[in-house]
Amino acid sequence: MDLQLTGRRILITGASSGIGLATARMLAEEGARLALCARDEQRLRAATADLAEITDVLTASCDVTDRASVDTFVGQATDRFGGLDGLVCNAGRSLMRTLDETTDEEIRDEFDLKIFGALNLVRATRKALADSGVGSIVIVNAILSRQPELRLAATAAARAALLNLSRSLAGDLADDGIRVNSVLLGLIDTGQWQRRYTEADSGVDFDAWSAEIARDRGIALGRFGTADELAFPITTLLSPRNSYMTGASLDVGGGVHRYV
Ligand code: NDP
Repeated sequence: MDLQLTGRRILITGASSGIGLATARMLAEEGARLALCARDEQRLRAATADLAEITDVLTASCDVTDRASVDTFVGQATDRFGGLDGLVCNAGRSLMRTLDETTDEEIRDEFDLKIFGALNLVRATRKALADSGVGSIVIVNAILSRQPELRLAATAAARAALLNLSRSLAGDLADDGIRVNSVLLGLIDTGQWQRRYTEADSGVDFDAWSAEIARDRGIALGRFGTADELAFPITTLLSPRNSYMTGASLDVGGGVHRYV
């Protein structure tokens, strides 16, 4: 099937590792042109060097919580490609703490990253995406937005706010012909979890360690997902062939049983 992504201009935040990087790779294989950012530009360049051999790639350092930094990056991308057709708001992390262990400042930082980490990009890209005629925004969020966990209290609250905001954005941007959808992740084997595995020093290999966590969290498939398993739904949401889908949220969590 032709996803009609050849030559499309897609901007991805947090593209130096994990889901952002896997999505960039899949889109490059589909023939899309890419504007990629992360804060550490050196790491981003090293991670994406091979993509430049396949397609036109712009890399830049950008902190998504800093509106000026976002405006500069989006300006570079639209200058380079003459517009934009898609945006993937993916940059982020989670804060593994209970509420008692979390300071007010850390809670504000979580909301800043989740809300403005998406909103800054949406505002900066809106005109270009409207001009595209097939503009599509994918917001990478988590099942945690619907199902809080005590150990991730501030992150869960900020993710719930982002999911709610995504639906408002879908309504606001529909008049401009821009679709907005969310992908809700379960547990995905990326840099975040590799770091936690190393810190846990469990004495078992990653597969055994992560399978135990998957069982504990009630994941039907009994394992973590891979970044590629996320890149595919993100890629298809960006496709102009998905033209009637907006305001939706897609669970990609291996079948999580519990819901609030
Ligand atoms: P990784 O840690 O592998 O990658 C995160 C990426 O985001 C990196 O490129 C990082 O680069 C970038 N980044 C972080 N903060 C900023 C910032 N302020 N501005 C710009 N770039 C930033 O994460 P994953 O691939 O696992 O996660 C991708 C998204 O999915 C994140 O939003 C994460 O919270 C979310 N998620 C992941 C889950 C999982 O199980 N893996 C579960 C639920 C949600 P740099 O540090 O150089 O800026």
